[in-house]
Amino acid sequence: MGVDDFANWLRDLAKTLHENAAYLTELDSAIGDADHGSNMDRGFTAVVAVLDESSFESVDELLKKAGMTLVSKVGGASGPLYGTFFLRFGTALAGVEVTPASVGEALKAGVGGILARGKAELGDKTMYDAWAPALEAYDAAVAGGSDLAGALGAAAEAAAKGRDATTPLVARKGRASYLGERSAGHQDPGATSTTLLLESAARTLA
Ligand code: ADP
Ligand code: MG
Repeated sequence: MGVDDFANWLRDLAKTLHENAAYLTELDSAIGDADHGSNMDRGFTAVVAVLDESSFESVDELLKKAGMTLVSKVGGASGPLYGTFFLRFGTALAGVEVTPASVGEALKAGVGGILARGKAELGDKTMYDAWAPALEAYDAAVAGGSDLAGALGAAAEAAAKGRDATTPLVARKGRASYLGERSAGHQDPGATSTTLLLESAARTLA
């Protein structure tokens, strides 16, 4: 498990987000400003351009560059949030062997970055509602002896449940919170892209 595997993940994720851009934007049009799909697509297209232009010596260098690219290319809430995720995820993997346990610690560090920036709590109807159950399921899978792909698969399944559970919630963070009670009845776009991110990781980081 090394640089090429993580680069494959980012490429697969870029493709997935491109294919789902219209869907993510449709979700954001109901409770936001109809740009989540184009934000994610633009950001990850830029990440792929960086992968094509540069070569990376280490996993952390690759992931940190992806994070900086997202911060610089994506306006809106999601750019800095996902950018910080990748920056901290990469930083946590600097100089350590990629194992199910170290990736779990790195995921926690990345999500810690999302919380430090966005101050979301569970139930606020944000991407954290997908991340929180995903981290829990990941740790439980590793404790039960899962390999990386198994743990990421468990995380992706839990994220999907968390994503679905955002639908009835009233948003308390981000643009959707401006709608108050009218935000209920719609699935959160960011929880949806987080689920795509983890599904892509489970497919590619085997
Ligand atoms: P913007 O809301 O600025 O248009 P996007 O549409 O790209 O940005 O992203 C919206 C998503 O960002 C939301 O669906 C939500 O999941 C996530 N989000 C917004 N604010 C926060 C926050 N404070 N913490 C965590 N996630 C957030
Ligand atoms: Mg938006």
